[in-house]
Amino acid sequence: MPDLLKKLEREVQNCQKCSLGKARTQAVFGEGDPKAEIVFIGEGPGQKEDETGKPFVGAAGKLLDEMIQAIDLTREKVYIANVVKCRPPGNRDPLPDEIKACWPYLEKQLQTIKPKLIVLLGRHSLEEFLPGQKISQMRGKALRKNFPGLGRQVFFVVYHPAAALYQQSLKETLLNDFKKIPKILAEIEKGKENWDNGTEVANGAVANFKNKPDDKLNRSKKTIKQNKLF
Ligand code: SF4
Repeated sequence: MPDLLKKLEREVQNCQKCSLGKARTQAVFGEGDPKAEIVFIGEGPGQKEDETGKPFVGAAGKLLDEMIQAIDLTREKVYIANVVKCRPPGNRDPLPDEIKACWPYLEKQLQTIKPKLIVLLGRHSLEEFLPGQKISQMRGKALRKNFPGLGRQVFFVVYHPAAALYQQSLKETLLNDFKKIPKILAEIEKGKENWDNGTEVANGAVANFKNKPDDKLNRSKKTIKQNKLF
């Protein structure tokens, strides 16, 4: 399994599938435990990441480390990646065709690691996995859905650490949301058997996300609300 990730990383380092490849210093593949239970997914590399080749190494990265440590984990025990692997110039948002070109790398990473929980860091990451939802409404909520290429997967939504950097109230919210992660993992473990049989978990703490994963128009807030976990 680590070999597969290494092979994929080499591919990413040489990738020129979109225009971001020309502008980068180096691609930022992602890092962490190749067998991690939790994968954190941000939007894309910033300047520091582009310089070092590592994800979340700037001020936002330090805050992410703090949050991870608050739940008795370390960066080495989880996996951290981004939706796009190369820095968009001037830290602009990645364009749809850049996300589309890069998506197979993230998909293969997730298929290889097979995390129990995917934590979506911020609104851009949220948009790629749960399109049409607002971060302010989804943060602190976990939900399970069938996702193309990944199967039945549990997602948890939090603010991006960068958003919480300069606003104490958001930092507290972020910390409180992070503290839900061990409980969500425990629920996933408890409900695993039922989930594998495609059955709702009985205690209601975990529920299905029923919308079709590839149908953005059908993802109503109402349905999300009905199926939220926490
Ligand atoms: S962003 Fe992704 S698709 Fe674009 S060049 Fe970088 S690795 Fe390739």
